[in-house]
Amino acid sequence: LYNILQELRGNIRVFCRIRPNLKFEAKSCIEYIGNDGSLMIFDPCKSQNTRKIFQFNKVFGPATTQGEVYKETQSLIRSVMDGYNVCIFAYGQTGAGKTYTMCGSSNGSCEELGINHMALNDLFQISSIREDIKYDIHVQMVEIYNEQVRDLLAEDGANTKYPFVLIFFFFPTGFWLDIISYFDLLINYSNTLEIMNCSGNGGLSIPNASIRGVQSTADVLNLMKLGEKNRAFSSTAMNHRSSRSHSVLTVHVHGKDISGNTIHSCLHLVDLAGSERVDKSEVTGDQLKEAQHINKSLSCLGDVITALAQKNSHIPYRNSKLTQLLQNSLGGNAKMLMFAHVSPESDSHGETISTLKFAQRASTV
Ligand code: ADP
Ligand code: MG
Repeated sequence: LYNILQELRGNIRVFCRIRPNLKFEAKSCIEYIGNDGSLMIFDPCKSQNTRKIFQFNKVFGPATTQGEVYKETQSLIRSVMDGYNVCIFAYGQTGAGKTYTMCGSSNGSCEELGINHMALNDLFQISSIREDIKYDIHVQMVEIYNEQVRDLLAEDGANTKYPFVLIFFFFPTGFWLDIISYFDLLINYSNTLEIMNCSGNGGLSIPNASIRGVQSTADVLNLMKLGEKNRAFSSTAMNHRSSRSHSVLTVHVHGKDISGNTIHSCLHLVDLAGSERVDKSEVTGDQLKEAQHINKSLSCLGDVITALAQKNSHIPYRNSKLTQLLQNSLGGNAKMLMFAHVSPESDSHGETISTLKFAQRASTV
């Protein structure tokens, strides 16, 4: 019955994940309800009744383990091996648990592995079991920052700024920030990638981004480490860059059966930029630009998903780099899952409400 319901709801699913309260003294603003995907939230700072109810395909409470989350995601991920394109997004304010869900936490114990890791384990396992089809798996990893696409798997470039990081602390900050920004700009321009309009499933939407063949989850983890390193090196000029850019890990699956039929499908695992509203009166310059780019691209993503959910004839893919990049994997037969991440703390109440509203909009069919 669950599968039939999913079919009726179409190919867009929205899960909400509430992370544990990290500030022990903070009050929670969430009354988690139950197994039907509904969630109740209230504002503990207001005395009158401020309860609001939201409905999703599933709600994961703070005690949910990574394994339990993966279990609900597994069938979707496995469908990549049958030729479906799949996009999984982690949405939410910075600190709400997006990276935890996608990449796991670095303490390395089994329970903490993220969806990326478990998904790849699964794909490699299926590929080794299926004798009727021979699979080839490749990955790409890019980040979108200020509407520019950058290759995260390029070998060079990562160390270019290393000396600057070392001597950074010996000079007035503003001076070096200017210099680093300048180099950042140069490096960014030289690394910026074009998105191509690839027709059908066969093409690559970013043909110039490095693409690496992988044989095992360990291969992918090494590449992800390289990607994270490349991402981290650009964060010296602008603080917290990793929360101000979208990162997209794409797994390309090619399959060929005994009679020569082929499939090509992609799994996109997207850790989105933090959705928090930046106070326009308090930021200027680069930070304002960043905030505007993030707002624009997240709202474009929302528009595309809403248009797909409403089965509109025009889907506004061209309005942002992210939706352009994922165009072939959003809509049509493709399957999409959005994780809306929220913090339970009462001081996040405003952001939590806006995340829930965004996600609710995506899930309205
Ligand atoms: P984001 O990527 O959205 O900015 P993170 O994934 O970095 O947020 O999470 C912020 C902090 O909360 C991290 O220290 C992370 O380990 C912790 N955290 C997030 N979600 C969970 C969870 N479900 N269980 C335990 N700790 C979590
Ligand atoms: Mg993060």
